[in-house]
Amino acid sequence: MSKSNDNTETTTWTNRRGNEADAVPQRGDRESAPVTFENVRKVYDNRMVAVADFSARIEGGEFITIVGPSGSGKSTLLRMIAGLESISGGDILVGGESVKGVDPQDRGIAMVFQNYALYPHMSVRKNMSYGLKLTSDLDSEEITRRVEATAEMMGIGDYLDQRPGTLSGGQQQRVATGRAIVRDPALFLMDEPLSNLDAKLKIHMRTELQRIQDDLGTTTIYVTHDQHEALTMSDRIIVLDEGELQQFASPSEVYDQPVNRFVADFIGEPSMNFFDVTLDGHRLFAPGFEYSLGPDVAETVRGRQRDEALELGVRPEDISLSERGDITARVEVVENAGSDNYLYLDVGGSECTVRVSGNVDVTRGAELSISFEPDDIHIFDRATGENISPYIDSKAATTRSTTQ
Ligand code: ADP
Repeated sequence: MSKSNDNTETTTWTNRRGNEADAVPQRGDRESAPVTFENVRKVYDNRMVAVADFSARIEGGEFITIVGPSGSGKSTLLRMIAGLESISGGDILVGGESVKGVDPQDRGIAMVFQNYALYPHMSVRKNMSYGLKLTSDLDSEEITRRVEATAEMMGIGDYLDQRPGTLSGGQQQRVATGRAIVRDPALFLMDEPLSNLDAKLKIHMRTELQRIQDDLGTTTIYVTHDQHEALTMSDRIIVLDEGELQQFASPSEVYDQPVNRFVADFIGEPSMNFFDVTLDGHRLFAPGFEYSLGPDVAETVRGRQRDEALELGVRPEDISLSERGDITARVEVVENAGSDNYLYLDVGGSECTVRVSGNVDVTRGAELSISFEPDDIHIFDRATGENISPYIDSKAATTRSTTQ
């Protein structure tokens, strides 16, 4: 009986350490390439700066996501690594070697695109073997073995002789990923590979991709505009805005210790709440409320001018409803999201989102009080956007900002 597309959408890829997977490249077969960016710059048409002096080092075997809004330079960065775009300034080293002057097919890189870029007139088997035939000197028997084992591992073994057009989106995505895997690259580049899948399948594929990457141990650079994808998949995240590196750190660091307002706003859904405030001593003054800083934060901001324009940031989950808090709020909208409710509040004329448990009973128009702990707040310099509050946790942070 042939499997229907729907049933196979959620097929789990066979563990590559299983019996039939011995032709699939194994972790440790080759050294996973570190990737170094040295002041990389990309200027289109002599004026459009798409990537500005980007420097970073990715360790071999890491799963890195590049995240940022549309037009922030993510694809350009990836395409320069792949050799699909020239590098205007600086250099990119893969495995310690500059990619400059190396043909794209000789860079040891396999790329998975958003639209899968499968050849419609070729069978799945041919799609998967074609690149390998062009770029390796493997004999056809070995190529067949690799393709079949990889297809098996990815749950598309039954479709090898079909054309991509007869497969569902999820299966096509597996073919595109399988085609990259058979090439046994030193580096995977993935450009929004899951964005054409529906929400449920996307979640499934995320974990599958992570597991495969973990099994293969191949350095992976994954581009997405979806901050949730970045937070859930990566070892470390590169946050870009307007071609500039904002922060390069682990998901928890980026979330808990955003270096600036851009990162604080972009990472996290719903976004962090922001209030315009001025400082007087250890107190912040916002329209509608005052807030006393904890000793650590007060110490950090002490040198700041009185009445300096700052911004207070608090994440929706760090705000509690309180019986008799100092900050009064009016409920504008109640959004039921199942296990959680999101309350959209008016606090002194500013919008404020609060996440509360789904069984908290609040109605639109209600007046209530909110509170948040001094350790959970962020303070930003309104002029520069820099996060000037200390991170109050024993774990040390390694973050970097673009302004270095
Ligand atoms: P992202 O992947 O983050 O959406 P891109 O790397 O595609 O961003 O684009 C970064 C910037 O460079 C954008 O402003 C975009 O319009 C511009 N750009 C991208 N490709 C070209 C091109 N071939 N010619 C001119 N400008 C381009």
